[in-house]
Amino acid sequence: MDELAKLLEGNKRFVNREFKSKDLSAQRSETISGQHPFVTIVSCSDSRVVPEYIFDAGIGELFIIRAAGNVVDSCALGSIEYGVGHLHTPLLVVLGHEKCGAVTAACKMLCENNHIDSVLEKIKPVVGKTGPSDVEKTIEENVRWVKDCIENSSKVVKEKVAEGKLTVVGLKYSLTTGKVEILK
Ligand SMILES: [Zn+2]
Repeated sequence: MDELAKLLEGNKRFVNREFKSKDLSAQRSETISGQHPFVTIVSCSDSRVVPEYIFDAGIGELFIIRAAGNVVDSCALGSIEYGVGHLHTPLLVVLGHEKCGAVTAACKMLCENNHIDSVLEKIKPVVGKTGPSDVEKTIEENVRWVKDCIENSSKVVKEKVAEGKLTVVGLKYSLTTGKVEILK
């Protein structure tokens, strides 16, 4: 099955509460010798956005990089390159979500003179384009922006895409419905 279809099928099971049965202990044993995830996901750290739950996945299936606002820095880019370059996941997803606190803070231009500012600095160029009043639109634009940043700054990602070995997709998760939608 196509990896994106597989991921969306998992989300459908989550929404319909039709979780597939998982033997986590067996999966743990099976993956000791190596991991073969089918997707690399850049997600927000938000505790309400739990990729393994919302995609009904088990151990060894999702390679996840998380930071508030699903922003990427050079360490995140390195992790993404490990996922697509070494683990060869054919799918790379940037996962934003409804009511994202980091994007909301960036829209409000809150400044804490703290390390959280480096997260907000990453989102500010997006707010510059969308304006501060429409947070949900900014969340969606931020996913597209992060996706573009990854594609433009990672040679590994660029090459894999050019070779037809990698698909990069932006998704938005709804806290309200539990569904993910593809952001074109
Ligand atoms: Zn968030």
